Amino acid sequence: MTALDLLLPPSCAGCDRPGTPCCATCLDDFGPPQRIQVPGVGPPVWTLAAYRGAARELVLAFKERGARALVAWFGAMVAAALVAVGPRPWTLVPAPSRRSAARDRGGDHMLRIARAVQIADVAQVLRLAPGVSDSVGLSAGERRQNLEGRVQVHGRPQPGTTVLLDDVITTGATASACVKALRRAGVRTHAVLALTSARPAQPG
Ligand SMILES: [Zn+2]
Repeated sequence: MTALDLLLPPSCAGCDRPGTPCCATCLDDFGPPQRIQVPGVGPPVWTLAAYRGAARELVLAFKERGARALVAWFGAMVAAALVAVGPRPWTLVPAPSRRSAARDRGGDHMLRIARAVQIADVAQVLRLAPGVSDSVGLSAGERRQNLEGRVQVHGRPQPGTTVLLDDVITTGATASACVKALRRAGVRTHAVLALTSARPAQPG
């Protein structure tokens, strides 16, 4: 929070409408979870919104611009989606941030959302080794290479439905690398749930 935030009433991070950190119109961009096609990931992949418009703005505001007030909304949306992705009890495994990015953002943003989901356990078992670059601008192959062997697993989730939680699915490289690393550690990922996705919906 900056000094300006304390002086000004909040405005919607999606559309700038004053009076709320997130207005009802922008929240409407997020719906019930939709299955999406992401070749090579393994478990079913679900998203709450397409990565465009207000949904994209809200995710970026939370992730890059420190709009902390949005955590409660994201937490509630993820909680509402869990019934669709598998039976309880649920354990959320937040997709890991690069260490430098997490430092710049004042913490790991997906961990913060996972902790706001009051009906699920959180297992922060994934970490990125040093040397992972920012994936912006990288091709699908470069993204895979960037993460190759660099997702580390420390510990195990509780038994139950294990859900990998990510902010944006673009090529699926991050989700795929996380699922593979978990599998190597003997942990099955039952589903991947993303706040937003740039992938097409699964037909039918
Ligand atoms: Zn709005």
